[in-house]
Amino acid sequence: MIVQPKIRGFICTTAHPVGCAKHIQEQIDYVKKHKPVNQGPKKVLIIGSSTGYGLASRIVASFGGTKAATIGVFFEREAEAKRTATSGWYNMVAFEEKAKKEGIYAKSFNGDAFSDEIKQRVVEAVKKDLGKLDLIIYSLASPRRQNPKTGEVSKSVLKPIGASYTNRSLDVSINKLEMVTLPEATPDEIKQTIDVMGGEDWEEWINVLDKNNLLDAGVKTVAYSYIGPELTRAIYRNGTIGRAKDHLEATAKKLDERLKKKGGRAVVSVNKALVTQSSSAIPFIPLYFVLLKKVMKEKNIEEDCIQQIFRMFSTRLYTDSNIVVDQNGFIRMDDWEMRPDVQSAVQKVWDILNEQNYEQFSDIKGYQEDFLKLFGFGLKDVDYNADVDIDLKIPSIASSIA
Ligand code: NAD
Repeated sequence: MIVQPKIRGFICTTAHPVGCAKHIQEQIDYVKKHKPVNQGPKKVLIIGSSTGYGLASRIVASFGGTKAATIGVFFEREAEAKRTATSGWYNMVAFEEKAKKEGIYAKSFNGDAFSDEIKQRVVEAVKKDLGKLDLIIYSLASPRRQNPKTGEVSKSVLKPIGASYTNRSLDVSINKLEMVTLPEATPDEIKQTIDVMGGEDWEEWINVLDKNNLLDAGVKTVAYSYIGPELTRAIYRNGTIGRAKDHLEATAKKLDERLKKKGGRAVVSVNKALVTQSSSAIPFIPLYFVLLKKVMKEKNIEEDCIQQIFRMFSTRLYTDSNIVVDQNGFIRMDDWEMRPDVQSAVQKVWDILNEQNYEQFSDIKGYQEDFLKLFGFGLKDVDYNADVDIDLKIPSIASSIA
């Protein structure tokens, strides 16, 4: 089938299998080109491993020097008749094939990470194949969660708290600046967002692994968070998602106390704002992205997921001494984004931005390229007019079914 991008709002409903494989290869090449991660992980579980930050974490763990065995959990859709699979599915096909070629263990579970069933299946796989885990990355970004104990379904919303919020927003699908108002969240919406994106499920993963004696003595577990500047505060950090991140960060402290007793650690890494499938869905954020991207590119400090995570592994998580954290106990990978010179440059542009000049001050082209790349489009040396096989199988999933 010839696969072209089909964009609907902030998602692309098609994905290119060859392009996704090329994107994976580029990320592997980046990691291999750099000095190997010193004393990196060996046995790793990545929850949310198919796209964005979790995918980058899986690649750095396996190709960053220690050739870590990885188990990845994700929620993707395989191809059906004339419908392509999701990009995360093709990413995992390519990742596993490339790992296998180099003799690196990789097993994947496609299903609901919030469920007891997936947790149990992962427990059995760790017991059988790995023994104990020394790193667990929690990188889920989900719109809903069914609580396995109560059956209750919670939905996450992106809304301000305390008052409605009106500001300029960039509709990236039509490249138009417009005023958008979001109503304030209800108490129930705040609660549901915390249920989905807070730390409860991360803690449940650690509980089930611990109960089954699958945590190595020096185990590390990392979940990803975001803080961001004043410009996005009302919608992000002071909004519903921010409340969920507060909960995630409080969970890190709780887990850290517990794991420290056995020589382990639980930390939150505050990452940079980046275009991923989840983040492009957050209202107002894309406008900040395009302004930030231009400023960071000009200062030569722009990074993508793989660069962020490689830097996290090599300079924060696996150093000769302790994990490198700030005064609040967070790993700060948003250090360059939050630099005063970067933020003041973004703010300066923000203050004079209007419908006539916004394209001049923003990297819309870069944003669109990054966005298409998430779905395997726009990669160099891929023939997008060629007929490609869309029905690809993830090796470890295919073999477990057979
Ligand atoms: P993403 O959408 O690229 O990846 C989300 C992952 O979660 C995918 O692997 C997906 O398959 C998986 N997933 C979703 N629901 C699932 C379910 N029910 N069961 C199993 N897997 C499921 O998102 P991302 O932007 O990489 O975000 C990952 C984390 O990083 C989030 O906590 C996010 O808040 C955080 N973060 C993102 C940014 C950013 O700008 N993108 C910045 C800082 C922190």
